[in-house]
Amino acid sequence: MSSDARRVEVHPGKEAVVEFDPELTFECVEECTWCCHHGVLLYEPDFLALADCANLAEATTSFRGEDFVRQERKDRDDHVDENGDACFFLREDGLCSLHADHDWKPARCSVFPLTVTVEDDEIHVDVRESAHEHCEGLDVSERRVVDNLDAFLPAVLWELDDPETRREL
Ligand code: SF4
Ligand code: SF4
Repeated sequence: MSSDARRVEVHPGKEAVVEFDPELTFECVEECTWCCHHGVLLYEPDFLALADCANLAEATTSFRGEDFVRQERKDRDDHVDENGDACFFLREDGLCSLHADHDWKPARCSVFPLTVTVEDDEIHVDVRESAHEHCEGLDVSERRVVDNLDAFLPAVLWELDDPETRREL
């Protein structure tokens, strides 16, 4: 990965403009699960890949022409939404069943706690506003985000008509 000021080559020929402090570090904190309380937008390649891991009729829902991992009621008090719901794939032990059983997760889950916007046809990446308040994994390790952007920004984002991360269920 090479960098030129705040422009970083994340995958060969695919650059992102980094808007956050390059000293930012991140390591997901076990048992946190805060970011798994919502429904996850599935890009078309994710939707197709998910078909190999799960029953789409059970696990997904459509809203305004887009596909999402649906939420379901969870027997837990924390990190659920106001209805007590969280992501269909969030297990009781706090792990993601897709990640645990299939070593895979939707692109949108990889991006968190970052957020993607597009300006002048370039992908810009910053820390999601809600993550500053809720994500426990920011600045708790030595793992600089800017050095590991390929783990957060799957190459598929550069193939999408609209890779912006503003949409949630
Ligand atoms: S798919 Fe997995 S990582 Fe993504 S929100 Fe659901 S439980 Fe969390
Ligand atoms: S909110 Fe942050 S620390 Fe918590 S599960 Fe999500 S990415 Fe990990």
